[in-house]
Formats: sequence, C-alpha cells, structure tokens
Amino acid sequence: MIVMKNVYKKYPNGVVAANGINVEIDPGEFVYVVGPSGAGKSTFIKMMYREETSTSGEIIINGVNLATLRNSRVPFLRRQIGVVFQDFKLLPKLNVYENVAFALEVIEESPKTIRKKVNDVLALVGLAQKSRMFPDELSGGEQQRVSIARSIVNSPKVVIADEPTGNLDPDTSWEIMRIFEQINARGTTIVMATHNREIVNTMRHRVIVVEGGLITRDEYEGEYSYES
Ligand code: ADP
Ligand code: ADP
Repeated sequence: MIVMKNVYKKYPNGVVAANGINVEIDPGEFVYVVGPSGAGKSTFIKMMYREETSTSGEIIINGVNLATLRNSRVPFLRRQIGVVFQDFKLLPKLNVYENVAFALEVIEESPKTIRKKVNDVLALVGLAQKSRMFPDELSGGEQQRVSIARSIVNSPKVVIADEPTGNLDPDTSWEIMRIFEQINARGTTIVMATHNREIVNTMRHRVIVVEGGLITRDEYEGEYSYES
C-alpha cells in the first residue's frame, strides 16, 4: 500500500527533513505519526501525497512509484488519497454540500451519483442536517467533519491526516477520532500525524516515532512517547 525505501528530503534551504526513511504500511492499517515539532512528521506524510517530492529514495503508493510519476498524473494520485488538515481548508464561499461535492464535480461524475455519494458521507459524519450551511456558520469540530467527508467522498484507499485534532477541544477531538475509527473499520488505511497523547494512548494503533528525519521507533499498539 505505502512503501518508502531510503527516502531523503533536503529542502532548498539545506534542511534535511527526511534522512533515510524506510517504512511499509499495509492496507487497512491505522498508523499514528508522532514526534517533536520540526522532527519531519509533516514532510514524511506530505511526500505520500506528493505535496513534497523526495530528494532520493523510493516511494510507492498503491503500486505507483512517485519518483517517476509525471506531474500531470498527480491529480489521479490525489483522488486515491484523502487528505485532512489541522486547519480544515474548506472553501469559504461554498456550503457544506458544495465543499464535499466539489471533489466529485472535477471528475465529472453524474449529478445523481454526486448527490448520493455526498449525502452518504455527510450522513456518516453526522452533518446531513447542515448541508446548506457555510463553513463560518459551523464549529471547528463540524468544519473538520466536513473536511473528513470531503476526504472520503472519492472512496480513497488511504486517508492522510496532519494533526486533525490540533485546533479542537478534547471532547470534539474524541468525536473526530471516532469518525476516523469508523472509516478505518470499513477498510480504509489511516496515517495520522498527531500530538494528542491521550488519544494515542487510548485508541491503540501502530505508532511511528519520527525524530530528526528518521523513524526512531515503530510499534504496533504503541504508546505516545519519544526521547527528546
Ligand atoms: P514536523 O511536522 O515534525 O513539525 P516538518 O516536516 O514540518 O516537521 O519539518 C521538518 C524540518 O524541515 C524542520 O526543520 C522544518 O523547519 C523544515 N521544513 C519544513 N518545511 C520546509 C520547507 N518548505 N522549506 C524549508 N524547510 C522546511
Ligand atoms: P507542523 O509542526 O504543525 O507540521 P509546519 O509543517 O507548518 O508545522 O511547520 C513545521 C516547521 O517547519 C516550522 O518550524 C516552520 O517554521 C517550518 N516551515 C514550514 N514551512 C517552511 C518553509 N516554507 N520554509 C522554512 N521553514 C518552514
């Protein structure tokens, strides 16, 4: 599903954010990526959806080698990967329904299919009643639900989340995590960078620790902890 072999990433300013990363993530896994600020967590997951390119090494996602992937093919890759951000990144002028439908309209699905898929995912995240509301009329937790609905509406095999609960209070964070658990239970692979110790130590899953651009620990049912 996701394979990285000897992946290096050096930014133009000389910072080495990935210093030889090797990892394999199987279909259906739920993986937390933890580590101190600046450790390279974001870089690690951004390379999975080609938001950043590696300087060397091999990255294979669903059998696609990102090193040789033409830029023109990146949109096709992105359709197989849902992405959820800490700051939601919703389109402010579109309502809830339109924010989710947008991802399907660009691939020219039929209006009937779009209606069904959007209503299904909005029901899954508990927002069926708020489809006409705009992002600025929603709480942070509700906005994150919209962004999760958007990330799964194309039925991707993988959902990548970069600190999805980073802007949310503890209760709301747990609600959001329960939605990710449901998505994972349907077979979708989840890779999530997080600083949320309570969640990592309670909803047990594989934990990958990134420090100094390296994976320093990788444990199934792991705990949230790292040296520095
Ligand atoms: P984390 O997500 O663990 O906080 P990042 O992957 O964001 O870590 O950053 C790893 C290192 O790479 C840090 O030293 C950071 O300053 C640097 N970095 C991140 N993004 C860029 C960028 N676009 N250009 C230059 N340096 C960057
Ligand atoms: P997070 O830790 O929430 O993943 P970011 O990925 O935004 O945060 O940034 C992590 C670190 O990388 C920060 O120290 C930030 O200053 C640095 N960074 C991010 N983008 C750049 C960039 N374009 N150039 C230099 N440093 C960057």
